[in-house]
Amino acid sequence: MAADAVTMDKIVALCKRRGLIFPASEIYGGIANTYDYGHYGVLLKRNVIDAWWQAMIGDRTDIVALDSAIIQHPRTWEASGHLAGFTDPLIDCKTCGQRFRADHLGELQCGRKPSKHPGETPECDLTEAREFNLMFETTIGPVKEAGATVYLRPETAQGIFLDFKTVLGFARKKPPFGIAQVGKSFRNEITPGNFVFRTLEFEQMEMEFFVPPDEAQQWHEHWLAERLDWYVRLGIRPDHLKLRPHDADELSHYSSATSDVEYLYPIGWSELEGIANRGDFDLTQHAQHSGEKLEYFDTASGQRYVPHVIEPAAGVGRTVLAVLCDAYDEEEVAGEQRTLLRLHPRLAPIKVAVLPLVRKDGQPELAQEVFQALRGQLQAEYDEGGSIGKRYRRQDEIGTPFCVTIDHQSLEDRTVTVRERDSLAQERVAVDELPAVLGGRLVAPWQTPKLAEA
Ligand code: ATP
Repeated sequence: MAADAVTMDKIVALCKRRGLIFPASEIYGGIANTYDYGHYGVLLKRNVIDAWWQAMIGDRTDIVALDSAIIQHPRTWEASGHLAGFTDPLIDCKTCGQRFRADHLGELQCGRKPSKHPGETPECDLTEAREFNLMFETTIGPVKEAGATVYLRPETAQGIFLDFKTVLGFARKKPPFGIAQVGKSFRNEITPGNFVFRTLEFEQMEMEFFVPPDEAQQWHEHWLAERLDWYVRLGIRPDHLKLRPHDADELSHYSSATSDVEYLYPIGWSELEGIANRGDFDLTQHAQHSGEKLEYFDTASGQRYVPHVIEPAAGVGRTVLAVLCDAYDEEEVAGEQRTLLRLHPRLAPIKVAVLPLVRKDGQPELAQEVFQALRGQLQAEYDEGGSIGKRYRRQDEIGTPFCVTIDHQSLEDRTVTVRERDSLAQERVAVDELPAVLGGRLVAPWQTPKLAEA
Protein backbone atom coordinates (compact mmCIF):
# COMPACT_ATOMS: atom_id res chain seq x y z
CA MET A 1 0.00 0.00 0.00
CA ALA A 2 1.23 3.50 -0.75
CA ALA A 3 1.95 5.28 2.54
CA ASP A 4 -0.37 8.14 1.50
CA ALA A 5 -3.39 5.80 1.22
CA VAL A 6 -3.95 6.36 4.91
CA THR A 7 -5.66 9.61 5.81
CA MET A 8 -6.88 10.91 9.13
CA ASP A 9 -10.45 10.73 7.80
CA LYS A 10 -10.09 7.02 7.07
CA ILE A 11 -8.70 6.32 10.53
CA VAL A 12 -11.47 8.33 12.18
CA ALA A 13 -14.10 6.51 10.10
CA LEU A 14 -12.71 3.05 10.85
CA CYS A 15 -12.45 3.81 14.58
CA LYS A 16 -16.07 4.93 14.61
CA ARG A 17 -17.35 2.08 12.43
CA ARG A 18 -15.75 -0.59 14.60
CA GLY A 19 -16.27 1.21 17.89
CA LEU A 20 -12.61 1.71 18.81
CA ILE A 21 -12.70 5.46 19.43
CA PHE A 22 -15.55 7.93 18.93
CA PRO A 23 -16.52 11.48 19.96
CA ALA A 24 -17.50 11.89 23.62
CA SER A 25 -20.91 13.30 24.62
CA GLU A 26 -22.15 12.60 21.14
CA ILE A 27 -25.85 12.68 22.05
CA TYR A 28 -25.31 16.32 23.09
CA GLY A 29 -23.42 17.14 19.91
CA GLY A 30 -19.97 16.26 21.23
CA ILE A 31 -17.47 18.26 23.26
CA ALA A 32 -14.33 19.83 21.85
CA ASN A 33 -11.26 17.61 21.45
CA THR A 34 -12.62 14.82 23.65
CA TYR A 35 -13.08 11.16 22.71
CA ASP A 36 -14.28 7.92 24.25
CA TYR A 37 -12.68 4.52 23.72
CA GLY A 38 -15.00 1.58 23.03
CA HIS A 39 -14.27 -2.12 23.67
CA TYR A 40 -11.56 -2.69 21.04
CA GLY A 41 -10.07 0.75 21.64
CA VAL A 42 -9.79 0.01 25.35
CA LEU A 43 -8.06 -3.31 24.65
CA LEU A 44 -5.66 -1.69 22.15
CA LYS A 45 -4.87 1.14 24.56
CA ARG A 46 -4.32 -1.30 27.41
CA ASN A 47 -1.89 -3.30 25.25
CA VAL A 48 0.10 -0.12 24.49
CA ILE A 49 0.28 0.72 28.19
CA ASP A 50 1.24 -2.86 29.08
CA ALA A 51 4.05 -2.76 26.50
CA TRP A 52 5.30 0.45 28.11
CA TRP A 53 5.25 -1.04 31.62
CA GLN A 54 7.01 -4.10 30.28
CA ALA A 55 9.80 -1.91 28.87
CA MET A 56 10.04 0.11 32.10
CA ILE A 57 9.70 -2.42 34.89
CA GLY A 58 9.44 -5.86 33.27
CA ASP A 59 12.64 -5.69 31.23
CA ARG A 60 14.75 -3.72 33.73
CA THR A 61 15.39 -3.58 37.47
CA ASP A 62 16.31 0.10 37.89
CA ILE A 63 12.79 1.60 37.68
CA VAL A 64 9.88 1.52 40.13
CA ALA A 65 6.21 2.29 39.56
CA LEU A 66 4.11 5.07 41.05
CA ASP A 67 0.49 6.24 40.81
CA SER A 68 0.25 9.76 42.19
CA ALA A 69 -2.83 11.96 42.59
CA ILE A 70 -4.28 14.06 39.78
CA ILE A 71 -5.03 16.96 42.12
CA GLN A 72 -1.93 17.94 44.08
CA HIS A 73 -1.21 20.80 46.45
CA PRO A 74 -1.59 24.02 44.40
CA ARG A 75 1.92 25.16 45.34
CA THR A 76 3.19 22.29 43.16
CA TRP A 77 2.41 24.36 40.08
CA GLU A 78 3.97 27.49 41.51
CA ALA A 79 7.22 25.59 42.04
CA SER A 80 7.13 23.77 38.72
CA GLY A 81 6.66 27.00 36.79
CA HIS A 82 3.30 25.95 35.32
CA LEU A 83 1.28 28.72 37.00
CA ALA A 84 3.46 31.41 35.51
CA GLY A 85 4.67 29.82 32.33
CA PHE A 86 2.40 27.05 31.05
CA THR A 87 0.61 29.30 28.61
CA ASP A 88 -0.30 29.67 24.97
CA PRO A 89 -0.55 33.08 23.30
CA LEU A 90 -4.18 33.61 22.23
CA ILE A 91 -5.83 36.12 19.94
CA ASP A 92 -9.57 36.90 19.77
CA CYS A 93 -11.39 38.03 16.66
CA LYS A 94 -14.01 40.66 17.58
CA THR A 95 -15.86 40.04 14.30
CA CYS A 96 -16.40 36.28 14.37
CA GLY A 97 -15.98 35.84 18.13
CA GLN A 98 -13.49 32.99 17.73
CA ARG A 99 -10.23 32.52 19.58
CA PHE A 100 -6.99 31.42 17.93
CA ARG A 101 -3.48 30.34 18.95
CA ALA A 102 -1.32 33.29 17.90
CA ASP A 103 1.52 30.95 16.94
CA HIS A 104 -0.74 28.75 14.75
CA LEU A 105 -2.56 31.42 12.68
CA GLY A 106 -1.10 30.07 9.43
CA GLU A 107 -2.70 26.63 10.01
CA LEU A 108 -6.08 27.85 11.29
CA GLN A 109 -9.22 28.83 9.43
CA CYS A 110 -10.99 32.15 9.85
CA GLY A 111 -14.43 31.82 11.42
CA ARG A 112 -16.22 33.60 8.57
CA LYS A 113 -14.35 32.62 5.44
CA PRO A 114 -13.21 29.01 5.67
CA SER A 115 -10.76 29.45 2.83
CA LYS A 116 -8.83 32.18 4.67
CA HIS A 117 -6.61 32.26 7.73
CA PRO A 118 -7.51 34.53 10.67
CA GLY A 119 -6.54 38.11 9.92
CA GLU A 120 -6.58 37.67 6.16
CA THR A 121 -9.97 39.19 5.38
CA PRO A 122 -10.62 42.94 5.72
CA GLU A 123 -13.45 42.23 8.22
CA CYS A 124 -11.17 40.39 10.66
CA ASP A 125 -10.62 42.39 13.82
CA LEU A 126 -7.93 40.63 15.85
CA THR A 127 -6.90 41.60 19.38
CA GLU A 128 -3.32 41.60 20.63
CA ALA A 129 -2.09 38.17 21.80
CA ARG A 130 -2.70 37.40 25.48
CA GLU A 131 -1.11 34.58 27.46
CA PHE A 132 -3.70 31.96 28.45
CA ASN A 133 -2.88 29.28 31.04
CA LEU A 134 -3.54 25.72 29.89
CA MET A 135 -4.32 24.31 33.33
CA PHE A 136 -7.91 23.46 34.27
CA GLU A 137 -8.88 25.04 37.55
CA THR A 138 -11.31 23.63 40.08
CA THR A 139 -12.12 24.12 43.73
CA ILE A 140 -11.76 21.99 46.85
CA GLY A 141 -14.59 22.55 49.31
CA PRO A 142 -18.35 22.91 49.01
CA VAL A 143 -18.47 26.67 48.53
CA LYS A 144 -16.71 27.96 45.45
CA GLU A 145 -15.89 31.38 46.91
CA ALA A 146 -14.48 30.03 50.17
CA GLY A 147 -12.78 26.96 48.68
CA ALA A 148 -9.18 26.50 47.66
CA THR A 149 -8.32 26.76 43.99
CA VAL A 150 -6.59 23.63 42.74
CA TYR A 151 -5.58 22.37 39.30
CA LEU A 152 -5.99 19.19 37.31
CA ARG A 153 -2.42 18.12 36.58
CA PRO A 154 -1.16 19.10 33.12
CA GLU A 155 1.55 16.40 33.30
CA THR A 156 2.11 13.38 35.52
CA ALA A 157 5.78 14.21 36.09
CA GLN A 158 5.31 16.59 39.02
CA GLY A 159 3.70 13.91 41.18
CA ILE A 160 6.90 11.91 40.75
CA PHE A 161 9.07 14.81 41.95
CA LEU A 162 6.82 15.38 44.98
CA ASP A 163 7.24 11.74 45.97
CA PHE A 164 10.97 11.51 45.20
CA LYS A 165 12.03 11.46 48.86
CA THR A 166 9.34 8.98 49.92
CA VAL A 167 10.13 6.59 47.07
CA LEU A 168 13.86 6.85 47.76
CA GLY A 169 13.09 5.83 51.34
CA PHE A 170 11.44 2.52 50.49
CA ALA A 171 12.51 1.57 46.97
CA ARG A 172 16.04 0.44 47.90
CA LYS A 173 17.38 2.17 44.80
CA LYS A 174 20.06 4.77 44.25
CA PRO A 175 20.79 6.94 41.22
CA PRO A 176 20.76 6.04 38.43
CA PHE A 177 17.17 4.88 38.95
CA GLY A 178 13.76 5.81 37.63
CA ILE A 179 10.16 6.31 38.77
CA ALA A 180 7.49 5.59 36.17
CA GLN A 181 3.81 6.35 36.03
CA VAL A 182 0.88 6.25 33.66
CA GLY A 183 -2.17 8.42 34.15
CA LYS A 184 -4.44 11.13 32.90
CA SER A 185 -3.33 14.69 32.38
CA PHE A 186 -5.45 17.66 31.39
CA ARG A 187 -4.76 20.68 29.20
CA ASN A 188 -7.17 23.35 28.09
CA GLU A 189 -6.04 23.14 24.46
CA ILE A 190 -7.85 25.31 21.98
CA THR A 191 -6.07 24.21 18.80
CA PRO A 192 -8.25 21.86 16.74
CA GLY A 193 -7.25 18.42 17.78
CA ASN A 194 -6.61 16.14 14.80
CA PHE A 195 -8.56 13.29 16.42
CA VAL A 196 -6.76 11.88 19.48
CA PHE A 197 -3.50 13.64 18.62
CA ARG A 198 -4.47 16.61 20.79
CA THR A 199 -7.21 16.21 23.37
CA LEU A 200 -8.24 18.03 26.52
CA GLU A 201 -7.65 14.95 28.65
CA PHE A 202 -5.10 12.34 27.73
CA GLU A 203 -3.04 9.62 29.29
CA GLN A 204 0.68 10.07 29.64
CA MET A 205 3.37 7.46 30.18
CA GLU A 206 6.16 9.30 31.93
CA MET A 207 9.34 8.19 33.60
CA GLU A 208 11.74 10.37 35.56
CA PHE A 209 15.24 8.86 35.60
CA PHE A 210 17.38 10.30 38.42
CA VAL A 211 21.12 10.26 37.73
CA PRO A 212 24.38 11.63 39.13
CA PRO A 213 24.85 15.05 37.42
CA ASP A 214 27.93 14.04 35.46
CA GLU A 215 26.07 11.08 33.91
CA ALA A 216 23.10 13.09 32.61
CA GLN A 217 24.19 13.40 29.01
CA GLN A 218 25.07 9.74 28.67
CA TRP A 219 21.69 8.70 30.11
CA HIS A 220 19.89 11.15 27.83
CA GLU A 221 21.46 9.40 24.85
CA HIS A 222 20.58 6.02 26.33
CA TRP A 223 16.90 6.94 26.62
CA LEU A 224 16.74 8.47 23.15
CA ALA A 225 17.87 5.17 21.66
CA GLU A 226 15.70 3.04 23.97
CA ARG A 227 12.52 4.96 23.32
CA LEU A 228 12.93 5.08 19.55
CA ASP A 229 13.53 1.35 19.58
CA TRP A 230 10.37 0.75 21.64
CA TYR A 231 8.18 2.10 18.85
CA VAL A 232 9.95 -0.08 16.30
CA ARG A 233 9.31 -3.09 18.54
CA LEU A 234 5.60 -2.21 18.49
CA GLY A 235 5.73 -2.79 14.74
CA ILE A 236 5.90 0.83 13.56
CA ARG A 237 7.91 1.28 10.34
CA PRO A 238 11.36 2.64 11.22
CA ASP A 239 11.23 5.07 8.29
CA HIS A 240 8.07 6.61 9.79
CA LEU A 241 9.95 7.47 13.00
CA LYS A 242 12.68 9.98 13.72
CA LEU A 243 14.37 11.82 16.54
CA ARG A 244 14.27 15.60 16.27
CA PRO A 245 16.44 17.65 18.64
CA HIS A 246 14.78 20.89 19.81
CA ASP A 247 16.34 24.15 18.70
CA ALA A 248 17.61 26.36 21.54
CA ASP A 249 14.57 28.69 21.24
CA GLU A 250 12.10 25.77 21.55
CA LEU A 251 13.48 24.39 24.82
CA SER A 252 11.21 24.49 27.87
CA HIS A 253 12.32 26.61 30.81
CA TYR A 254 13.51 23.49 32.68
CA SER A 255 15.36 21.74 29.91
CA SER A 256 18.97 21.87 28.76
CA ALA A 257 18.32 19.41 25.91
CA THR A 258 15.17 17.81 24.50
CA SER A 259 14.59 15.59 21.51
CA ASP A 260 11.18 14.52 20.27
CA VAL A 261 10.37 11.16 18.82
CA GLU A 262 8.32 12.13 15.79
CA TYR A 263 6.02 9.99 13.72
CA LEU A 264 4.96 10.60 10.14
CA TYR A 265 1.23 11.01 10.82
CA PRO A 266 -1.09 11.78 7.89
CA ILE A 267 -0.87 15.40 9.14
CA GLY A 268 2.94 15.31 8.72
CA TRP A 269 5.83 14.69 11.09
CA SER A 270 4.58 15.41 14.63
CA GLU A 271 5.59 14.77 18.23
CA LEU A 272 4.93 11.34 19.66
CA GLU A 273 7.13 11.65 22.73
CA GLY A 274 9.48 14.21 24.26
CA ILE A 275 12.75 13.09 25.89
CA ALA A 276 14.16 15.91 28.01
CA ASN A 277 17.20 16.49 30.14
CA ARG A 278 15.50 18.42 32.96
CA GLY A 279 18.73 18.88 34.95
CA ASP A 280 18.08 19.52 38.66
CA PHE A 281 15.37 22.11 37.95
CA ASP A 282 12.37 20.30 39.43
CA LEU A 283 13.94 18.85 42.58
CA THR A 284 15.62 22.19 43.33
CA GLN A 285 12.39 24.12 42.82
CA HIS A 286 10.34 21.78 45.02
CA ALA A 287 13.06 21.79 47.68
CA GLN A 288 12.97 25.58 47.77
CA HIS A 289 9.18 25.83 47.83
CA SER A 290 8.55 23.03 50.32
CA GLY A 291 11.56 23.39 52.57
CA GLU A 292 12.27 19.63 52.23
CA LYS A 293 15.70 18.44 51.20
CA LEU A 294 15.34 16.63 47.91
CA GLU A 295 18.76 15.17 47.36
CA TYR A 296 20.68 11.95 47.48
CA PHE A 297 23.37 11.10 50.00
CA ASP A 298 25.77 8.45 48.79
CA THR A 299 27.02 6.73 51.93
CA ALA A 300 29.84 4.97 50.05
CA SER A 301 31.45 8.15 48.67
CA GLY A 302 30.15 10.57 51.29
CA GLN A 303 28.77 12.72 48.43
CA ARG A 304 25.52 14.63 48.67
CA TYR A 305 23.93 15.89 45.47
CA VAL A 306 20.68 16.80 43.75
CA PRO A 307 20.19 14.20 41.01
CA HIS A 308 19.66 15.34 37.46
CA VAL A 309 16.63 14.01 35.63
CA ILE A 310 16.15 12.48 32.19
CA GLU A 311 12.47 12.29 31.25
CA PRO A 312 10.93 10.25 28.45
CA ALA A 313 7.32 11.56 28.28
CA ALA A 314 4.99 9.75 25.91
CA GLY A 315 1.29 10.06 25.15
CA VAL A 316 -0.96 7.00 25.06
CA GLY A 317 -3.42 8.55 22.57
CA ARG A 318 -0.66 9.66 20.21
CA THR A 319 0.89 6.19 20.35
CA VAL A 320 -2.47 4.54 19.66
CA LEU A 321 -2.96 6.92 16.73
CA ALA A 322 0.53 6.24 15.33
CA VAL A 323 -0.01 2.49 15.65
CA LEU A 324 -3.37 2.74 13.87
CA CYS A 325 -2.02 4.91 11.05
CA ASP A 326 0.96 2.65 10.56
CA ALA A 327 -1.10 -0.54 10.56
CA TYR A 328 -3.86 0.74 8.27
CA ASP A 329 -3.86 -0.93 4.87
CA GLU A 330 -6.15 -1.43 1.91
CA GLU A 331 -5.74 -4.06 -0.75
CA GLU A 332 -7.71 -5.79 -3.45
CA VAL A 333 -8.33 -9.49 -2.97
CA ALA A 334 -10.14 -11.44 -5.69
CA GLY A 335 -11.63 -8.25 -7.09
CA GLU A 336 -12.82 -7.01 -3.68
CA GLN A 337 -11.45 -4.21 -1.57
CA ARG A 338 -10.16 -5.25 1.85
CA THR A 339 -9.33 -2.84 4.66
CA LEU A 340 -7.19 -4.17 7.47
CA LEU A 341 -5.06 -3.18 10.41
CA ARG A 342 -1.73 -4.95 10.23
CA LEU A 343 -1.27 -4.55 13.98
CA HIS A 344 1.55 -6.26 15.79
CA PRO A 345 -0.17 -9.24 17.48
CA ARG A 346 1.01 -7.97 20.84
CA LEU A 347 -1.13 -4.87 20.36
CA ALA A 348 -4.08 -6.42 18.55
CA PRO A 349 -7.22 -6.03 20.72
CA ILE A 350 -8.37 -9.55 19.80
CA LYS A 351 -5.77 -12.24 19.11
CA VAL A 352 -8.10 -14.86 17.69
CA ALA A 353 -11.70 -14.94 16.50
CA VAL A 354 -13.59 -18.24 16.51
CA LEU A 355 -16.20 -18.48 13.77
CA PRO A 356 -18.55 -21.33 12.89
CA LEU A 357 -19.04 -21.31 9.12
CA VAL A 358 -22.82 -21.76 9.53
CA ARG A 359 -25.11 -21.45 12.50
CA LYS A 360 -26.30 -25.09 12.42
CA ASP A 361 -25.24 -28.76 12.15
CA GLY A 362 -23.37 -28.72 15.45
CA GLN A 363 -20.86 -26.12 14.24
CA PRO A 364 -21.73 -23.47 16.86
CA GLU A 365 -21.38 -26.08 19.63
CA LEU A 366 -17.91 -27.15 18.50
CA ALA A 367 -16.93 -23.52 17.91
CA GLN A 368 -18.02 -22.70 21.49
CA GLU A 369 -15.87 -25.58 22.78
CA VAL A 370 -12.86 -24.22 20.85
CA PHE A 371 -13.56 -20.68 22.04
CA GLN A 372 -13.82 -21.74 25.69
CA ALA A 373 -10.51 -23.61 25.41
CA LEU A 374 -8.74 -20.57 23.93
CA ARG A 375 -10.18 -17.71 25.92
CA GLY A 376 -8.36 -18.53 29.14
CA GLN A 377 -5.08 -18.18 27.29
CA LEU A 378 -5.68 -15.45 24.69
CA GLN A 379 -7.96 -12.48 24.14
CA ALA A 380 -10.45 -14.39 21.97
CA GLU A 381 -13.83 -13.54 20.48
CA TYR A 382 -16.71 -15.73 19.33
CA ASP A 383 -18.84 -14.54 16.43
CA GLU A 384 -21.56 -16.48 14.63
CA GLY A 385 -23.68 -13.69 13.13
CA GLY A 386 -23.67 -12.84 9.39
CA SER A 387 -21.82 -14.22 6.39
CA ILE A 388 -18.33 -15.57 6.91
CA GLY A 389 -16.97 -12.95 4.48
CA LYS A 390 -18.43 -10.11 6.55
CA ARG A 391 -17.10 -11.64 9.75
CA TYR A 392 -13.57 -11.91 8.28
CA ARG A 393 -13.77 -8.27 7.15
CA ARG A 394 -14.78 -7.18 10.60
CA GLN A 395 -11.84 -9.01 12.19
CA ASP A 396 -9.43 -7.63 9.55
CA GLU A 397 -10.59 -4.12 10.36
CA ILE A 398 -9.89 -4.50 14.07
CA GLY A 399 -6.55 -6.17 13.32
CA THR A 400 -7.23 -9.71 14.61
CA PRO A 401 -4.17 -11.75 13.53
CA PHE A 402 -5.95 -15.13 13.40
CA CYS A 403 -9.43 -16.39 12.61
CA VAL A 404 -10.33 -19.99 13.42
CA THR A 405 -13.18 -21.34 11.30
CA ILE A 406 -15.24 -24.40 12.16
CA ASP A 407 -16.84 -26.12 9.13
CA HIS A 408 -18.52 -29.45 8.31
CA GLN A 409 -15.15 -31.22 8.12
CA SER A 410 -14.37 -30.06 11.66
CA LEU A 411 -17.23 -32.20 12.97
CA GLU A 412 -15.85 -35.23 11.16
CA ASP A 413 -12.15 -35.01 12.01
CA ARG A 414 -11.88 -32.31 14.73
CA THR A 415 -9.68 -30.05 12.60
CA VAL A 416 -10.30 -26.34 12.00
CA THR A 417 -9.03 -23.73 9.56
CA VAL A 418 -6.62 -21.11 10.81
CA ARG A 419 -6.69 -18.00 8.61
CA GLU A 420 -3.80 -15.59 8.91
CA ARG A 421 -4.74 -11.91 8.62
CA ASP A 422 -1.75 -10.55 6.69
CA SER A 423 -1.04 -13.31 4.17
CA LEU A 424 -4.58 -14.75 4.09
CA ALA A 425 -2.93 -18.19 4.23
CA GLN A 426 -5.29 -20.90 5.50
CA GLU A 427 -4.17 -24.05 7.17
CA ARG A 428 -5.93 -26.98 8.90
CA VAL A 429 -5.00 -27.60 12.49
CA ALA A 430 -6.27 -30.20 14.96
CA VAL A 431 -8.52 -28.70 17.64
CA ASP A 432 -6.38 -30.15 20.42
CA GLU A 433 -3.25 -28.53 19.01
CA LEU A 434 -4.80 -25.08 18.54
CA PRO A 435 -3.79 -23.49 21.86
CA ALA A 436 -0.15 -24.53 21.34
CA VAL A 437 -0.08 -23.56 17.64
CA LEU A 438 -1.65 -20.12 18.18
CA GLY A 439 0.27 -19.47 21.38
CA GLY A 440 3.54 -20.25 19.61
CA ARG A 441 2.77 -18.00 16.65
CA LEU A 442 1.74 -15.08 18.80
CA VAL A 443 4.99 -15.04 20.77
CA ALA A 444 7.22 -15.76 17.74
CA PRO A 445 8.99 -12.75 16.18
CA TRP A 446 6.36 -11.13 14.00
CA GLN A 447 6.99 -9.62 10.61
CA THR A 448 4.11 -7.90 8.95
CA PRO A 449 4.45 -7.40 5.18
CA LYS A 450 4.94 -3.69 5.76
CA LEU A 451 7.99 -4.34 7.94
CA ALA A 452 9.41 -6.76 5.43
CA GLU A 453 9.07 -3.95 2.82
CA ALA A 454 10.69 -1.29 4.98
P1 ATP B 1 2.71 19.66 21.84
O1 ATP B 1 3.91 20.55 21.52
O2 ATP B 1 2.31 18.77 20.70
O3 ATP B 1 1.57 20.41 22.45
P2 ATP B 1 4.08 19.09 24.25
O4 ATP B 1 5.52 19.26 23.82
O5 ATP B 1 3.43 20.18 24.98
O6 ATP B 1 3.20 18.65 22.98
P3 ATP B 1 4.77 17.38 26.40
O7 ATP B 1 4.49 18.39 27.44
O8 ATP B 1 6.20 17.09 26.07
O9 ATP B 1 3.97 17.75 25.06
O10 ATP B 1 4.00 16.04 26.79
C1 ATP B 1 4.55 14.76 26.58
C2 ATP B 1 3.65 13.93 25.67
O11 ATP B 1 2.30 13.95 26.11
C3 ATP B 1 3.60 14.44 24.23
O12 ATP B 1 4.69 13.98 23.47
C4 ATP B 1 2.30 13.81 23.75
O13 ATP B 1 2.49 12.46 23.37
C5 ATP B 1 1.43 13.85 24.99
N1 ATP B 1 0.54 15.02 24.93
C6 ATP B 1 0.81 16.28 25.30
N2 ATP B 1 -0.28 17.08 25.14
C7 ATP B 1 -1.25 16.29 24.63
C8 ATP B 1 -2.62 16.49 24.24
N3 ATP B 1 -3.20 17.68 24.39
N4 ATP B 1 -3.31 15.45 23.76
C9 ATP B 1 -2.75 14.24 23.63
N5 ATP B 1 -1.49 13.97 23.98
C10 ATP B 1 -0.74 14.97 24.48
